[in-house]
Amino acid sequence: MSNVYEKIGLKRVINAAGKMTALGVSTIHPKTANALVEGASAYVEIERLYEVAGKKMAQLINAPDACIVNSASAGLAMATSALICKDDIALAEILPVHLSSISKREVILLKGQNVNYGAPVSTMIQLGGGIVVEVGYANKSTSMHIESAVNENTLAIYFIQSHHCVIKNMVTVDEVIGVGKKFGVPVIVDAASESDLSLYIDKGADMAIYSGAKAICGPTSGLVACSNSDYARYLRNQFKGIGRAMKVGKESIMGLLKAVEVYLDGEIITVVDRKELDEFALKLNELQGLTCSISADAQGRPIYRVKVIVDQAVFGISASDLVLRLHKNDPMIAVRDHYANVGSIEIDPRGFNTKDEMWEICDAIRKIQGEING
Ligand SMILES: *Cc1c(COP(=O)(O)O)cnc(C)c1O
Repeated sequence: MSNVYEKIGLKRVINAAGKMTALGVSTIHPKTANALVEGASAYVEIERLYEVAGKKMAQLINAPDACIVNSASAGLAMATSALICKDDIALAEILPVHLSSISKREVILLKGQNVNYGAPVSTMIQLGGGIVVEVGYANKSTSMHIESAVNENTLAIYFIQSHHCVIKNMVTVDEVIGVGKKFGVPVIVDAASESDLSLYIDKGADMAIYSGAKAICGPTSGLVACSNSDYARYLRNQFKGIGRAMKVGKESIMGLLKAVEVYLDGEIITVVDRKELDEFALKLNELQGLTCSISADAQGRPIYRVKVIVDQAVFGISASDLVLRLHKNDPMIAVRDHYANVGSIEIDPRGFNTKDEMWEICDAIRKIQGEING
């Protein structure tokens, strides 16, 4: 049976890569699907919905308030413009033309965190009217680097919590929050793909931004957890300005609320359990030139993957070439390739829709090896 994408002529995708925007991030729980349809099927006072849904979200994640947005990227842009405009709705309406006369819009960003997650963090901050002030070095930063950059034009400090960032020798989120408190500057945490929805507000961050479709497995959407209701209101004000270009639909709001409920109830399960993952690793290990083991997530999230070290001399092709061949396969097989250039790939089980998909990967790799060895 083919899915809607195959019906319009696209290849089926087996996702062993994780929550990747390039592959459609995640798939939703049937309860979330229902909430999306129900949300789309009725009228509602949108302005009240934004407020009420934000408060309901806040209750779910144990934050003082929250604002639902259409992506974590929108959250990054809108958090910036919200801090510039606050309750000045007339300013929010015309922010882009007025920017040059506003000086308090410097946003401090660690150099090692100025990453491209598919789009650059700095572009989102600039879209919201921020002037990015990079501090520290690509491979090292301390609180001192942030402190020396704070001045009367500092709007906020952003902290990007992500595997995309340099982690070694970097100031911690706690230290950054400490600096923010010391100077009275808001600290915004980009926790787009993080799984703990209350951690950063609990730690003292002013706002924490999450992507709806990553850990939460919700619809395309985002949420900004807020340490007080002023921030949530400033964010909602932005829907009368640049936020309109990032409008979040009523169905996405209802879908995300349900998705968070389902997520917090622990109802999202990967279709393969740890034992089956072990069996898969053993099976793959039988192939000449592959060494397989279970690896824990480098960021400490509760995720287990199969790490496959490819010995090019024995297997016949390099890890990078194996990635390319799996891509060209029909169905397309996408694996984690962060370390392909140094000889290994990872199979991430979170994106499998059936157990069969995992075994199809084994068959495809065996077939590729057969082809190479003629
Ligand atoms: C994915 C990601 C984003 C963007 O999330 P979207 O909801 O896709 O806009 C922002 N920051 C980081 C660190 C990310 O990993």
